[in-house]
Amino acid sequence: MSFRRPEIIRPPSERSSYFLPITSGCSHHRCTFCNYYYGSKLGIREVHDVKNEIDALALYNKYGIQTPANPEIVYAIAKQWDGRRIFLQDGDALVYPSEKLLEILQYLNEKLPDLDRIAAYTTPQDVLQRDIDELKNLKKAKLGILYMGVESGDEEVLLKVGKGVSYHEIVEAGAKIKEAGIILSVTVILGLDGIKGRQKHSSETARILNDIDPNYVGALTLVLVPGTPLYEKAITGEFHPVSPFHSLEELKTLVENSNFTDCFFSSMHASNYFSIRGRLPYDRERVLKQLEDILSTKDPTLLRPEFLRVL
Ligand code: SF4
Repeated sequence: MSFRRPEIIRPPSERSSYFLPITSGCSHHRCTFCNYYYGSKLGIREVHDVKNEIDALALYNKYGIQTPANPEIVYAIAKQWDGRRIFLQDGDALVYPSEKLLEILQYLNEKLPDLDRIAAYTTPQDVLQRDIDELKNLKKAKLGILYMGVESGDEEVLLKVGKGVSYHEIVEAGAKIKEAGIILSVTVILGLDGIKGRQKHSSETARILNDIDPNYVGALTLVLVPGTPLYEKAITGEFHPVSPFHSLEELKTLVENSNFTDCFFSSMHASNYFSIRGRLPYDRERVLKQLEDILSTKDPTLLRPEFLRVL
């Protein structure tokens, strides 16, 4: 079957990167809240096909030459590109077979020697099945940052949403990424256990974040997506989503209980009702004050309107 280029879904910080698909979908594709990937099985792009796109990008980057053999999207992305960063698509590009992934990274370095950094999404499972030397070799080939979904630190929530890994496996995966010298950016999802479970979900999520001690944390807020099992549960009344201010209470729990070495923590993602950001522990009091202020007034005009919230 031929490889279908995935839509661009990327972390906010990769906005200026070139989006190079090496996989489509996600190898896990079982998380009950995940919109894009649920039921979307893994596709692996052939190395020669990836290399053709790298050749086209290098030619365009150096001489501005476009060739009709390449899809227009390649040049549309290249025109917005900062020339420095590459983001490997898709949901967990780190699942790509090890030697071939290294071959792609080395080819990128050969054809685009000015690259600063290559990035990818990963699952904890992908990291756990690689040994540390493999990760170190990828780092040497400029794999500089991995984005890993943690979602929750609550063991029961991880089970319920079908994450497929335990608290300790997630912590172990995070430790391995850091040991390889790769920057670790993780995401968690506010409201993932609804109204009933919100206190335990947020306190356990604060705990796992401290245990991982990542370089970056991005807090997202649950958006129920039609077609996903969690959406169906909300329709049938089995799942009760949190209110916007509940989600901010969860966010406050994460900041209040944080104990990071040095972490850039944010809720800038478009799924959130309210954006905060800061370096923790240094900005902890300022961020907490912002959250306390909005939680004391509960002024809905300070929130991002529901219709503007997207995943
Ligand atoms: S591992 Fe990530 S991308 Fe894959 S299904 Fe779960 S949330 Fe979605």
